[in-house]
Amino acid sequence: MVKICCIGAGYVGGPTMAVIALKCPDIEVTVVDISTQRINGWNSEHLPIYEPGLEEVVKECRGRNLFFSTDVEKHVAQADIIFVSVNTPTKTHGLGAGKAADLTYWESAARMIADVSKSDKIVVEKSTVPVKTAEAIERILTHSRKGINFTILSNPEFLAEGTAMKDLFNPDRVLIGGRETPEGQKAIETLRDVYANWVPMERIICTNLWSAELSKLAANAFLAQRISSVNAMSALCEATGADVSEVSHSVGTDSRIGPKFLNASVGFGGSCFQKDILNLVYICECNGLPEVANYWKQVIKVNDYQKSRFVNRVVSSMFNTVSSKKIAILGFAFKKDTGDTRETPAIDVCKGLLGDRARLSIYDPQVTEEQIMKDLSMRKFDKDHPAHLQPPSPTSIKQVSVVWDAYEAVKDAHGVCIMTEWDEFKKLDYQKVYDSMQKPSFVFDGRNVVDVDMLRKIGFIVYSIGKPLDP
Ligand code: NAD
Repeated sequence: MVKICCIGAGYVGGPTMAVIALKCPDIEVTVVDISTQRINGWNSEHLPIYEPGLEEVVKECRGRNLFFSTDVEKHVAQADIIFVSVNTPTKTHGLGAGKAADLTYWESAARMIADVSKSDKIVVEKSTVPVKTAEAIERILTHSRKGINFTILSNPEFLAEGTAMKDLFNPDRVLIGGRETPEGQKAIETLRDVYANWVPMERIICTNLWSAELSKLAANAFLAQRISSVNAMSALCEATGADVSEVSHSVGTDSRIGPKFLNASVGFGGSCFQKDILNLVYICECNGLPEVANYWKQVIKVNDYQKSRFVNRVVSSMFNTVSSKKIAILGFAFKKDTGDTRETPAIDVCKGLLGDRARLSIYDPQVTEEQIMKDLSMRKFDKDHPAHLQPPSPTSIKQVSVVWDAYEAVKDAHGVCIMTEWDEFKKLDYQKVYDSMQKPSFVFDGRNVVDVDMLRKIGFIVYSIGKPLDP
C-alpha cells in the first residue's frame, strides 16, 4: 500500500488529504502536525476548521485510510510521498521583513525529513513558496542525507476557503512541476496517478519546477488584481454616479474578460493574497525588476485604500463622529463559509471605528469571541481570570462585545456594517432590524449583499460599495 504523509494539518493539508483518502482507498494517508490542539481537533467531532462538506468526508475515511497524528517523524519515515503543507507567512523581521516569505517552517520540515528518512522519498511542495524554493530544499535534503534519493515536486494548491471541497473534487486544474530528469519525470507520473483517480487527465498540467512554483504566486496576484481593479472602479463610480454592478456586468460580458471575481467589496482578505503578492514584490525586487514590483504593490495599496475609504464613509455619514455610538458588525470572517479571519478586512474596519471611539457589537456565525478578541488584540475580560493575568483596559472591554445572533448585534445600534457575505445577512428581516435600531439607522454594506431599494423603502440610510449614494 502506497503511504502518503502530509506535514501540516491546516486549511490546505486537512481537506486535500481527506479528498485523496476518499478517492484513493488503496493509499494510506496520514496528516501530521506539531500542534496537538489541531490534531486532537481532527480526531474529534469538532474539526479544527469549518468547510462545507469536509466533516462528512473525514468521518467516512478517518480510521480507514485517513489518520491524524502528532508523531511526525514516524509517519514521515514510513511514507513514500511526503506533502509539505506548512504555513509560509510573511517575514516579520530581518532581511525582507514585511515582504519575503518566511520559510522557517519549511526549512525545519525539510531538515526533519532528511534526518528521519531511511528510504527514497518524493517530497511535494504543497505550501505556496517563492520560485526557486525547490532548489534550496533539494540542497538541504541531499546535503543532509547521503545515499537516499529525494525527488522534489511542486504541486501548489488552488483551493479557495469556503469552497475547498468543491474545488478539490472538481479542480479547474492540478499543477505538477518537476525536474526534467528521468527521476523528476517518474515522480511527476507517480503523483499524476494519484490525482488521476478522480481528476480528468486533461486537467492535470505538468510543467517544470519553477513554472509551477511561480504559477501559484501569479494566479493569486491575478485574482487579487481583479478585485483591486473593480474596487478602484467602485471609488470612481461613487464619485460620478455610475453603479459598479452595472459597470462590472458590462465589462464582464466581454468574453476576453469574463464575469467572475468582479464584485466590488470592502477589500480582499485571507491568508494568501496579500502575503503572496508581497512575496512576488520581493522576488521582483531581488531580481532587479523594481517597476514590476511597483506594479504589484499597487494592488495591495488599492486594497488598503478601499478599507480606509469604507471607515471614512461610515464616520462621515454618521455626522463625522461615531464616538460612543453602537455599530453592529455583521460578519468577521474574510469571506462566507469559513471561520478564517486571517487578514480579514473586518479587523482594519473595526480598528478604524474603535479609533474613532465607536462601540462595536460583533456577530459572525463561525468565528469565536476568543478569535475576534485576539484579532483586535484584546483579551476577553474574564472575572474568573487568575489575578496575575492582566485584563484589557476597561475602555476597550466596553467598546467591543461579541454576540451570537445578528438581531442581538443590531439592537439599539446607530449603524450596521456588513463585513462578510454570509447568506443569512441577505435574508434578515430588515424591518425588524430597523425597528430595533436608533434613528436615523444606517447600513454600510461592505459586500453589496442587501437589496438597497428595499432597505431605503424601510427607512434606512444605505451605503453600498460603488453604488449611487443615498439621495
Ligand atoms: P495553516 O496555518 O492552516 O496550517 C499549517 C500547519 O502546519 C499548522 O497547523 C502548523 O502547526 C503546521 N506546521 C508548521 N510547521 C510544522 C512542522 N515542522 N511539522 C509539522 N507541522 C507543522 O496554513 P494553511 O492555510 O493550510 O496554508 C498552508 C500553505 O498552503 C501556505 O503556504 C499557504 O500559502 C498555502 N495555501 C493556502 C490556501 C488557503 O486557502 N488557506 C490555499 C492555497 C495554498
